[in-house]
Amino acid sequence: PTPAPANFLRTVIEQDLAAGTYDGRHFGGSPGDAAHHAAGAVDPARIRTRFPPEPNGYLHVGHAKSICLNFGLARDFGGICHLRFDDTNPEKEEQEYVDAIVEMVRWLGFDWETGGTSHLYYASNYFDFMYRAAETLIERGLAYVDEQTPEQMRANRGDFSTPGTDSPFRSRTPAENLTRFREMRDGLHADGAMVLRAKIDMASPNINLRDPALYRIKRAHHHNTGDRWCIYPMYTYAHPIEDALEGITHSFCTLEFEDQRPFYDWLLGQLADAGLLARPCPKQVEFGRLNLTYVITSKRKLKALVDEKIVTGWDDPRMPTLAGLRRRGYTPAAVRRMADDTGASKTNIWLDYAVLEQCLRDDLEGQAPRAMAVIDPVPLVLTNWSELFGAEHREPCHAPAHPQHPAWGLRQFSLGPEVWIERDDFAEVPPKGFFRLFPGNKVRLKYGMVIECTGCEKDAEGRITRVLATVVPDTKSGTPGADAVKVKGNITWVGVHDAVATELRLYDRLFREAQPDAGDRDFREALNPDSLRVTRGWLEPSLAGWPAERHVQFERHGYFVSDRKDHRADAPVFNRVTGLKDGWGG
Ligand code: ATP
Ligand code: MG
Ligand code: MG
Repeated sequence: PTPAPANFLRTVIEQDLAAGTYDGRHFGGSPGDAAHHAAGAVDPARIRTRFPPEPNGYLHVGHAKSICLNFGLARDFGGICHLRFDDTNPEKEEQEYVDAIVEMVRWLGFDWETGGTSHLYYASNYFDFMYRAAETLIERGLAYVDEQTPEQMRANRGDFSTPGTDSPFRSRTPAENLTRFREMRDGLHADGAMVLRAKIDMASPNINLRDPALYRIKRAHHHNTGDRWCIYPMYTYAHPIEDALEGITHSFCTLEFEDQRPFYDWLLGQLADAGLLARPCPKQVEFGRLNLTYVITSKRKLKALVDEKIVTGWDDPRMPTLAGLRRRGYTPAAVRRMADDTGASKTNIWLDYAVLEQCLRDDLEGQAPRAMAVIDPVPLVLTNWSELFGAEHREPCHAPAHPQHPAWGLRQFSLGPEVWIERDDFAEVPPKGFFRLFPGNKVRLKYGMVIECTGCEKDAEGRITRVLATVVPDTKSGTPGADAVKVKGNITWVGVHDAVATELRLYDRLFREAQPDAGDRDFREALNPDSLRVTRGWLEPSLAGWPAERHVQFERHGYFVSDRKDHRADAPVFNRVTGLKDGWGG
């Protein structure tokens, strides 16, 4: 067995459990109610984690990492993981994204219902509490309304080498600040006219502690609270409160939030001192982001791909969104495997996309039934068929549905005087080491008979229109003496008389470069112009009536899946998921 990958987050949890850090916490009532900590019963969950997406886009493969970590750690340590919509930013958030996120977390195999309770939360349900907490900070002299312009504020913040300068509004009394803040809430001031800031330390070496903004004025409709608020909390203020109200023990986030941790601790400490929150407070722990080569994961850039119609939508099979991976044919188990195998560390990691593909192959190998398909077809005519068997004869052939699952039975198809073969299985003049069809050479039509190539026919442009061959008698697979004629090539085929026509969507990587948005580069310049080739091919008859979103391995070609949106039993559409071996495309 492979050893468990290094995951320092486990160690953090184990140490907290051993030390009893979170024992005896109270949980209950309804989060968002200030008193719920004290009012509830002792939390039966040993730890609580959360996955907190902002519903401003679709989940991508990087989010899968966070989902698997948070839900996986909660499961492993007898805890509970919350699904929380971090919906404190009114402008970019939409119900469509909420629904898509719910669907994809479920698809990945995780559940936020535990013991009959749903642990799905909306940060916007805590707006009242957040507002009250802000007034409390003001009353305690820990926050003030600043009317400097954004430019002044930026200039007075200083930088790494220079301490900041106090705002002229910093010395206002709590009473003045309270009045002003209520005016902000009541819509008496224009958007952007002023903000509420924490009063911490304008000389702190950590810029995030130089009086960070807590609330801004923004007249925007919110998907949950409608037009009730015209002030909204900043993410850095909202997030720690959300964690605390939900009784989260471990708030795992990506490394870029490391510098925010002192503020996270400051804020929760102040609110606990004020009696608004119970101790112990949640603990923020940062881990390295997972990046995948050949994809981009910025939601803003993914949205640009959709809006500019570079792809067909968020679920385009070339997208690194979970919806896209699903439609491409990725399985939840493969994505979880990739996430679990990469552990958790204190550095951002780059994972080769090939690793994800290999996780998928490992998963599909044992479960995708086999079939023959011809992707780039040319007809092959068996010129002695009538003479040997009679023109109407069809020779029944069969093959196992899956070589490792005899119980799945046999696929049935038949051989006739004309079959579809791959165009590149024939060469008029064979290159060195070519063992397939060329004049004078013998190959086996897989599961069928040995044939000998006699030549080909071409059109006026010199393009091959038909390949010609003769059947070698008494060579039918599975009959006595069939192996007497030795051949080096074994080619796949589909009978013209029983073939099922299909659309094939041959996907390749969306970007040509391993890091498409490295540096300042415009990711559009790294697009692969051949990321999709749509073509028509032929399937063996065992795939007639195939349901949507079901995998199959086309022998010699790779894994395909019937498209979950466009496939019809009578008008098949198959997406290429991945080849049989490492390497992109086909
Ligand atoms: P963007 O910045 O593109 O909007 P985001 O990371 O802010 O994306 P959120 O919806 O806020 O998106 O993310 C939800 C959670 O997923 C966060 O806790 C975030 O840290 C985590 N996450 C996002 N991307 C990755 C990644 N590549 N690796 C690990 N965790 C990630
Ligand atoms: Mg975010
Ligand atoms: Mg972000």
